[in-house]
Amino acid sequence: MDIVNVGVIGLGRLGMAHTEKLVTIISDVNVKAVCALDIEQLDYAAKTFSVDTYTDYKKMIDQSGIDAVIIVSPTGFHPEMTRYALEAGKHVFCEKPLGLELDEVKEMAESIKEHDDLVFQLGFMRRFDQSYLRAKEIIDNKGIGEVIYIRAYGIDPISGLESFTKFATDNDSGGIFVDMCIHDIDLIRWYTQMEPTEVWSIGNNIAAPQLKEINEFETGVATLKFENNMIATLIGGRHAAHGNQVEMEIMGSNGWIRIAQEPKKDFLTLFTHNGIENNCLQSFAERFEQAFRDELNDFIQNVKNNEPSSISVDDGVRALLIAKACKESAEQNRLIKIN
Ligand code: NAD
Repeated sequence: MDIVNVGVIGLGRLGMAHTEKLVTIISDVNVKAVCALDIEQLDYAAKTFSVDTYTDYKKMIDQSGIDAVIIVSPTGFHPEMTRYALEAGKHVFCEKPLGLELDEVKEMAESIKEHDDLVFQLGFMRRFDQSYLRAKEIIDNKGIGEVIYIRAYGIDPISGLESFTKFATDNDSGGIFVDMCIHDIDLIRWYTQMEPTEVWSIGNNIAAPQLKEINEFETGVATLKFENNMIATLIGGRHAAHGNQVEMEIMGSNGWIRIAQEPKKDFLTLFTHNGIENNCLQSFAERFEQAFRDELNDFIQNVKNNEPSSISVDDGVRALLIAKACKESAEQNRLIKIN
């Protein structure tokens, strides 16, 4: 296959950005069709990208002549859309998380394994970020010795709270651990190749009491114990006044790694009578521009060359199981054993 024809489902906060990348900077791909429920988004995409538009994803899959589907719809739709696309013989890129419920996601995983002639790739894009990749190399080469402790922050800017509230009101986001901390859960499993055995989590809504009405914690903190007693703390939130704080610290027996401890937008530091100032990154899209581009490129090349994705569906199932245990612990105020 020289050119991979794709259709994108979902044109919201992330889907429109994925579509734009596929149209403008990813090679060997042709975006033939897009699907969304929002007519304004569809009109914008039709005008800007010259694509066919659909409001019914099944029609898009069946009628548009595509080879692959990029699923960027709300999380609850991922299992049914993935299964429909695979049954129709289409390769699938699906945004994280795999879904909201473990039983559906396990069925989805079975269907993915049954269709192993088709590429399935999950959107854990941080695995493509250059800093996280460098950390993986250092850890694998024992550059910091044995990992003792990992602390991960995933805190969205307060300026994004309104759009998040709309997203989580229209559809179940899964909550702070499933929607946000799942990225760090995946990275920690990838780095350490170990599984957590128990978790204790808590959450609050001090910075955004309105999120309580939609059953969301604004801030969530989970402490996980791993097989070899390694410890990880996950801190998820939606309240950062200064910007997008996605930070990780990995403490080893012979050195530490810190990734993005300050979310600096560029290399400029301003020194004035007000003090020392830096501009901060304001969104996940800005922070992970390179990673989003490289993961989409990887998917298209995997489809072209008939290569499996390096991120397995079992990674997605496992990450969801752990994130759900974090959520359960916070909701039930008790330590949860993870099997
Ligand atoms: P959003 O609410 O902004 O957009 C959702 C889009 O899906 C809209 O265009 C809507 O019309 C469309 N849609 C909804 N139901 C549909 C249906 N039944 N059929 C067809 N289209 C439908 O959502 P978002 O913030 O872009 O998030 C979408 C997904 O991307 C979620 O699963 C989210 O977890 C994931 N996401 C991942 C990252 C990341 O860091 N990798 C960041 C943001 C969002």
